[in-house]
Amino acid sequence: MSKQETNNTTILITGGAGFIGSNLCEYFLGKGYQVVCLDNFATGHRCNLKAFENNANFRLIEGDIRNHKDCEAAVLDVDYVLHQAALGSVPRSIKDPVTTNDVNVTGFINMLVAARDAKVKRFIYAASSSTYGDSQGLPKVEEVIGKPLSPYAITKYVNELYAEIFSKSYGMETIGLRYFNVFGRKQDPNGAYAAVIPKFVMQLMQMQSPVINGDGNYSRDFTYIDNVIQMNELAMLTENPLAINTVFNTAYGDRNTLNDLVNYLKGSLSKYRPEIANVAIEYGPNRAGDIPHSLASIDKAKELLGYHPQYSLQEGLEEAVAWYWENLR
Ligand code: NAD
Repeated sequence: MSKQETNNTTILITGGAGFIGSNLCEYFLGKGYQVVCLDNFATGHRCNLKAFENNANFRLIEGDIRNHKDCEAAVLDVDYVLHQAALGSVPRSIKDPVTTNDVNVTGFINMLVAARDAKVKRFIYAASSSTYGDSQGLPKVEEVIGKPLSPYAITKYVNELYAEIFSKSYGMETIGLRYFNVFGRKQDPNGAYAAVIPKFVMQLMQMQSPVINGDGNYSRDFTYIDNVIQMNELAMLTENPLAINTVFNTAYGDRNTLNDLVNYLKGSLSKYRPEIANVAIEYGPNRAGDIPHSLASIDKAKELLGYHPQYSLQEGLEEAVAWYWENLR
């Protein structure tokens, strides 16, 4: 898109104060788009908006996707929706399935209805690798899923079902991006439901032992934030009819064990403080609802969207660790 086209294009990013959402806001503002952020700061932070809160092309709507009126206000004059707002975390959903369902399912359908009524061009939403549930096969291909293993996974699968029905019933254009263990700058290291990478980085920076759930041989397709941004942009701009009204794995396409991960983190952080190399790793019980192994096939995204992930786990970790060292030490 030319500068003039991006300037005349408005993107609504729900959950824009969160980890992925705030990175999307920053990226699309950098490209000259008008960006609206809808967030209720349930898990997002104002500091994530600091770098661009005074940008004339940015507008914050403080509101809740469980509230129709907030959704209607947010989609006004919007061209594209990048729907990120949700309550993440499998353990949170096991502890409080009702709130997770309210936000992730009721909030999702509220946003779909608002986007339909406002006739937005396309609705792109954060789906999840948790939708693969108990399916055993690796790598995961979009068409073969198992039974969900948590309330969170159910909500993310229901999102896909609703998006498909809205495409069929109302002719809406939707694309779901099944994110696989995203990490990078601005991911929250604090709180009971913090993701493993920022949590371990913070612990290691404080010379505390990270505790791995299980024996450390569970594996994940860890995906750096810039790969996720690329997928959102491709999904937004694609003109390939085969890429619309479907879902895509959003991943790097490789898997690493938790033991590998901690060793990479120790290696990377010890460049800043050598003693970190000596911090011991501790092991605890496996967590309920955790999938043993996760690895995405990214063939569909490559073929239909022209996706080429730029960052491997190790390349992304170098950047993420530098950011945490600079900003949160
Ligand atoms: P995050 O918690 O940092 O961001 C979520 C944002 O949504 C927060 O800013 C939060 O305040 C906002 N929000 C929550 N409830 C809201 C509500 N009722 N109304 C308005 N805003 C609300 O999480 P994230 O990691 O950036 O995740 C973004 C999306 O990606 C979520 O939909 C999540 O389920 C999905 N996802 C993330 C990952 C990952 O590895 N981070 C993996 C799979 C899917």
